[in-house]
Order: sequence, then structure tokens, then C-alpha cells
Amino acid sequence: MIRLAKPYFGIEEETAVINVLKSGIVAAGPRVKKFEEDIAEYVTQSQGVAVSSGTAALHCALHCLNLSPGDEVITTPFTFIATINAILFCGAKPILVDVDEETYNINPKLIEKKITAKTKAIITVDLFGQACDYEQIQKIARDKNLILIEDACQAIGAKYQGKNAGSLGDIGVFSFYATKNITCGEGGMLVTNNAAFAQKAREFRNHGQKEAQRYNYLSLGYNYRMTDIEAALGIEQLKKIELFIAQRISNANLLSNELSKLSPDKIKLPIVKEENKHVFHQYTIRTASQIRDNLVAQLKEKEIEAGIFYPKPLHLYDHIRLLGYKEGDFPVAEKCAKEVISLPIHPQVTNEEIKYVAKCIRDFYEKN
Ligand SMILES: *Cc1c(COP(=O)(O)O)cnc(C)c1O
Repeated sequence: MIRLAKPYFGIEEETAVINVLKSGIVAAGPRVKKFEEDIAEYVTQSQGVAVSSGTAALHCALHCLNLSPGDEVITTPFTFIATINAILFCGAKPILVDVDEETYNINPKLIEKKITAKTKAIITVDLFGQACDYEQIQKIARDKNLILIEDACQAIGAKYQGKNAGSLGDIGVFSFYATKNITCGEGGMLVTNNAAFAQKAREFRNHGQKEAQRYNYLSLGYNYRMTDIEAALGIEQLKKIELFIAQRISNANLLSNELSKLSPDKIKLPIVKEENKHVFHQYTIRTASQIRDNLVAQLKEKEIEAGIFYPKPLHLYDHIRLLGYKEGDFPVAEKCAKEVISLPIHPQVTNEEIKYVAKCIRDFYEKN
């Protein structure tokens, strides 16, 4: 089976983990601190706060804003559920805005009319590894005095106008889940240039305890700590990130080249905006909704794993519908959810495998 995602660990990760085990410090220790510094430096932010998942990082980021019940946070319905759940964790209301059909990212032109006196923040999601249109979004956030949180869980290493994903808002959030472009198994990180936010996040991840003052709990908090075992993996993975990204981009280019022989009314290839460096967390094409699931099944028969990200826009799940959303509210997200297919381009997929994937897709369209 050609898998959609496959983490790559070398002897460096093996050695690093064994060294942690031998050191006797397996919970949060010196490696967590180093991983925070390394990630912050990589994305040119002054602060990194490592946590147990991307979801936890989103929760910490929103906690920094002191939201009250009834406050509103704008985001997209075409994302992983964690983006919206984190808003709900804080008792705030997710206000959804439809996406752009080319990039699948939040459509900046639709944001302003959703802003009310209760709006406190915007969470952008750099979906599939491509940054949003930040020139427009940053201007809206500035003009309306909103905090901008960048969910860059899928986009570490991506760039917008030469600037790093994760550094394009007031707070950036990464995930190091097993399928992400670099991984610790599970893990997450919040990055920011705002020292007060970082301090608040550090307390929140550790039961609300004041830093370096045991049993001095300043407020409610959680156990969202990362372990030194995870951090040791992350440190080694980060050293390889440019290799991983270059291979993803090269694989994506080869696949686009092979698929470009098919007519654009059969499949739409990923579009990379000129101002973006897309890191292809997912390589996502679109096809007619009536044949989409057949194509996925056909590929599976050919030992190729294809993914659907995401099969349903989030406003159509029960706990989000309860907020007053219904089918038809976000037509572009709803259409994309029926048409998208993600294909394997991770760094361990070979050129021969990519050509095979493309051939199987071309064969499918000869009969469909
Ligand atoms: C993976 C992901 C998350 C959550 O990260 P976890 O580490 O799985 O908690 C949040 N948002 C987006 C867009 C993601 O892709």
C-alpha cells in the first residue's frame, strides 16, 4: 500500500530517544526547553511554548485572550475539528466564514461583514500547508483591533511573502502529530513575540501554576505538558525539515506534471499562490462529486491510499449545528468537501510510485 502519510525516523531520532531514557528525565526537562528555542528560532518568534498536542496549543492560545461567554471568534468551517473545538473550550462562539475555492483557506473578503462588537479574534488555518492571504487578513485584524491566531498545524516551514507560517499572526500554533510534516508522535507548540501571552500559556499548560513556584496556582489550568521523549524526537525532526519539505514539493510537482495531461474539467490540481511557499502537508485535487468516492475506491484497489480532508464541513456536525448553522450556509466549503481527494506525496513516496498513482488516475478517467 502506498500510504498517505508515513513518519520518517533515522538513527538520529533513535539515539536521541535512548539518551533521554538513559538520562532519567523523561517528563518535561531540558529537551523541551531546547525544542521550544529551536522552533521559535526557526519561525523567527521570540517565544515557544511546547504542549502535548496542536489542540492543546490552540486552547492555550485562546486562553491568552481572556474570552468571556458570548465573545465571538471568527474561523473557517473547512478545517480539522480542533480549530473550532478550542473556541468552544473557552466558552466563546465560533463565527464561521466560507473559504476560497482555489486555496481552501478562509476568504478574506467575507470576514468583515461577520465582525460584531463581540468579535475578539480571528483564527486562520493554513490548510494543507499553504498560508492564507495575510495582507488582507492582517489589515482587518489591525483595523478592528482583533487578535490574529494562526493555526499553522499543517504548515510548519511554509512561507507567505517570505515570512514564516506561524509568525503571521499574534500567536502561531503547530502540531507534531504522527501524520504532520514533522512529528513527535503527539505534540504541539505555541509561538509568539508576546512575552505575556507566552507566560500565560506556560502557566495554563501546567495547572495554572506560576513558573518555578511549585503549588502556587494562579488560576485554573490543565496538564498540557510535552515530555522530553517527544521533544527529543522533535529536535531531530526539525533538523531534517528542509529535506522533508523539498521532497514533498518535488513529489507534488512531479504528480502535477503527470496529472496535467488530464483535462481540467476532469480534475483540478492544487493551486499555489505566487506569494506562497506551499509545503504540501496534503496534495489535494478536486473531481466531480458523483465519481469522487469511486476514484478513492479504485485507487484503494490499486494499493494506493487516498484521503478525504475533510468529508464534511464542520458546521454540519451536531454540536456546531446547535449554534444555529445549517446546510447551505457555506456553499464553497460544502462543495469542496464533496470534491476533494488527497494523494500520497510524503517524502518516502518514490518517483516510480508517483508515476504509478498518476497512471491509475488517468486509467480511471478513461473509463469515467
Ligand atoms: C492536526 C491539526 C490540529 C490538531 O493537532 P493535534 O496535534 O492533532 O491536536 C489542529 N488544526 C489543524 C488544522 C490540524 O491539522
